[in-house]
Amino acid sequence: MRIHSLRSRIALVFVLLMLAVQAAAFVVISTVIASNAHRNVEDQLSVGERVFQEVLHSNAGKLTQAAGVVAADFGFRAAVASHDQTTVTSALQNHGDRINADVVMLVGLDGKLIADSRGPTHAGESFAFPGLIRKAERSGDASTIGVINGRPYQLVAVPVKAPLVIAWVTMGFAIDDALARETRGLTSLDVSFLGKPDGKHWTVLATSLEHTARQPLQASLAAAAPADLHAGPLDRVDDYGTRVVLLASDSEPVVAILQRSLKEAMAPYHRLQTTLFILTLIGVAVSIGGSVFTARSVTRPIGALTRFSQRIGQGDYSEPIAVSHRDEIGELAAAFNQMREGIAERETRIMDLAYQDRLTGLPNRALFNDRLQQAIVVALRLGHPLSAMMMDLDRFKYVNDTLGHHIGDLLLDEVGKRLRANLLRASDTVARLGGDEFAILLPTDNVDAAKIVAARLLKSLETPIVVEGQVVDVGASIGIVSCPDNGRDMHTLLRRADVAMYTAKRANTGFAIYDERDDQHSAERLSLMSELRHAVEHDELTLHYQPKVDLATRAVKYVEALVRWEHPTRGFIAPDQFIPFAEQTGYIKSISRWVAEKAIRQCAQWHALGLDLKVSINVSARDLMQAELPETLDALLRKYEVDPGSLWIEITESAIMDDPNHAIATLDQLHQLGIRLSIDDFGTGYSSLSYLKRMPVHELKIDRSFVMGMADDKDDETIVRSTINLGHNMGLKVVAEGVEDAATLAHLKTLRCDLAQGYHVSRPLPPDKLESWLVTWHDQSEAQLREADTPA
Ligand code: C2E
Ligand code: CA
Ligand code: CA
Repeated sequence: MRIHSLRSRIALVFVLLMLAVQAAAFVVISTVIASNAHRNVEDQLSVGERVFQEVLHSNAGKLTQAAGVVAADFGFRAAVASHDQTTVTSALQNHGDRINADVVMLVGLDGKLIADSRGPTHAGESFAFPGLIRKAERSGDASTIGVINGRPYQLVAVPVKAPLVIAWVTMGFAIDDALARETRGLTSLDVSFLGKPDGKHWTVLATSLEHTARQPLQASLAAAAPADLHAGPLDRVDDYGTRVVLLASDSEPVVAILQRSLKEAMAPYHRLQTTLFILTLIGVAVSIGGSVFTARSVTRPIGALTRFSQRIGQGDYSEPIAVSHRDEIGELAAAFNQMREGIAERETRIMDLAYQDRLTGLPNRALFNDRLQQAIVVALRLGHPLSAMMMDLDRFKYVNDTLGHHIGDLLLDEVGKRLRANLLRASDTVARLGGDEFAILLPTDNVDAAKIVAARLLKSLETPIVVEGQVVDVGASIGIVSCPDNGRDMHTLLRRADVAMYTAKRANTGFAIYDERDDQHSAERLSLMSELRHAVEHDELTLHYQPKVDLATRAVKYVEALVRWEHPTRGFIAPDQFIPFAEQTGYIKSISRWVAEKAIRQCAQWHALGLDLKVSINVSARDLMQAELPETLDALLRKYEVDPGSLWIEITESAIMDDPNHAIATLDQLHQLGIRLSIDDFGTGYSSLSYLKRMPVHELKIDRSFVMGMADDKDDETIVRSTINLGHNMGLKVVAEGVEDAATLAHLKTLRCDLAQGYHVSRPLPPDKLESWLVTWHDQSEAQLREADTPA
């Protein structure tokens, strides 16, 4: 227990207070006991003095009676009268013996001893106490204390009458240790008789005291006057209560001192005091125990609170502290619990802010990365697969731009809800990474399972979303990766999921699984990149041209330029295999520039040859984003002196819808230059009519998938038909691409489609082949016309 701890201080204060109280009680009780003992001793002394006086009185009575009996004895009187010394002496002796008198004397009227029990030698001596005789003359008998040969005696004198007084019988008891002890037996007081045998110093003549106690008494009496004995010195005789009794004396003074040993008187009190002392000790011990217990009961909850707050300091909010006290400590504990809840709540809020996407309430990128990281560690350790997906909404930018950010936000929220609702496992995570980008983590699924999930997620987005009365149709593209097949670290996996997502977007397949061939960073792609660059720089690329034939007149005035790559070792590489890649890497700009120059130059050459052909070139989304596209094209048209009206640009619907506002701005510029515009692959994207109306479009190209399917599929036929009508209503020329047979061509003609393009008309051809094809086509057309004109 530390000395400065609250517990020890509380205990200390309690103990000190208890000690003080016990000590005070002890002192008070001891004082009361002492004064009580002293009073008791005083009382005993008073009683003892009266008893002592009574003893003297009764001894005097006994002596007087015995002496009276002798004095009245006829024979004795006769013997006294006849001076019969022998008879007198023996009579005195006999009577004295009867009461054990120590001294018996017969004193003559002349004051001389006639007989003395001590022996015949004393006869004739003067009686030492004439005062006694005189007192007896006056009152008939008398008693006194006298000292004979240094020993005190109690003496009485009685006259012997015949009938006149003829002598005095004196009888006495020795005042000796025996008397003193006898008195002590009666009074419980020690009795000492003092005298001044030398006339100067008090001397103990007889006493009941033990030998050892005599000396101090003797010492304290030195040279004190009888009067002094009452006050001063005797009171100071150690450990005794004292009473001084002055005895009537005829000669030198004799004093009796009654003493009560304080030690003895106090003995019963001492037992009481010892008991009291033990009780005090027990009291102190109990109070120490009690105060320690109290201190502990106060400080133990404080200790618990301390540990609790240390726990909170370490960020452990798991358990509240138990509130068992109903006192201030209980209130404090309750306050601590409130504090714990408050801190935990705020921390969760902070965590939420740091790890939660505020718009959708989904985990954000930071949390997703965190979980992915952990899932990778677990998957690698336990040896099971893990899948992750990256998802991007199609046309979100368009929704945002046309319907406003508010609707865009609500849309994202709804998408988030649908995604979450379609993940079956609690361990799966869907997060919003930012913008219209979502990510999904399936910590225990392989690619096959991920494909099923991806399909389910995409299906959940097929139902149009209604936000504030607006029906919004969103699609999404998902890229799927799995660990460890596609990478063993977070960054690689995320990047590859991104690559797969773009593949899915481009191919319009909904979802795609990562394929190294799509990845510009893969070794194969890197070499393809340098080869492509090499191809552009060394003229390995060529342009083929595919004619668009006028369905009404069979005239061919338009051709589409399509790029071809004749690789020195790999052979022919289809544009589908390198154009998307070039778009991803940004190298498409160089290719587009190359294509534009080549096509415009070709156009100029044809014009020079007198061939009135207008050339279409394909432009990708990335080209549209480029501010310098109109400038570049303008420069090239000027360079080869080609009329801008002879240049057509084909742009896919989805390229426009990626960022409609930006696209429209560029298209407007191109339009102002006089360049014509064609919407490619129409029907596959989600163009909105309102956009189409705002754009300077001249032509719609129905996607070849519908055209190729229209012979067998009623729906495709309906789409083709309605697209033709739509185009016409908007004042646009409509082109059907992918015409592979005569029936389709004929059908398109009945549907009043303007132009047809396809293998049935001609495959894309190199320029010289196209020129000869044109001659053949022209001749065939002439022939057909002639046949038609010839009446059957
Ligand atoms: P696209 O713009 O839709 O071009 C038409 C594609 O359909 C061409 O494929 C053409 O050969 C093919 N085609 C024409 N008639 C038929 C037919 O009757 N049946 C079938 N099955 N296919 C037919 P190609 O040349 O392989 O080009 C593929 C895509 O590559 C093009 O689709 C275009 O998006 C892109 N591309 C081609 N050249 C360029 C270019 O110079 N620049 C850009 N940016 N993209 C190009
Ligand atoms: Ca095209
Ligand atoms: Ca097309």
